[in-house]
Amino acid sequence: MEDCIFCKVAAGEIPSDIVYQDEQVVAFRDIQPQAPTHILIIPRKHIATLLEATDSDVDLLGRMQATAISLARSEGLDQSGFRLVTNTLAGAGQSVSHVHLHLLGGRVLGWPPG
Ligand code: 5GP
Ligand code: ZN
Repeated sequence: MEDCIFCKVAAGEIPSDIVYQDEQVVAFRDIQPQAPTHILIIPRKHIATLLEATDSDVDLLGRMQATAISLARSEGLDQSGFRLVTNTLAGAGQSVSHVHLHLLGGRVLGWPPG
């Protein structure tokens, strides 16, 4: 997708701190971290929001989740805890229109979220 920041990150066209990548997903540190660990997990495929995901994306969404859990372990969050969040549409705080999972941890996370 032209002009999509996260497609450019996935293509290596925007420098980013990539912590994991494979054929389907890319994970990189958020440029404005909201917690000591704040990693974004994205599909290489451009999907604007979760609302555009279809049954054919179920495996891909599962890969994103599995990648996030693996990274939570490698970040040492498997004792202290972590949060996985996908903001969907502007009203929920989505600012980049390419599906992404936030992995947050390393501090106490309040609930309910803002
Ligand atoms: P959203 O607000 O859509 O849920 O999350 C988008 C996230 O992407 C934000 O936390 C923001 O800091 C991050 N972000 C936006 N542009 C870039 C970028 O160019 N590089 C990186 N690493 N993170 C970005
Ligand atoms: Zn994209």
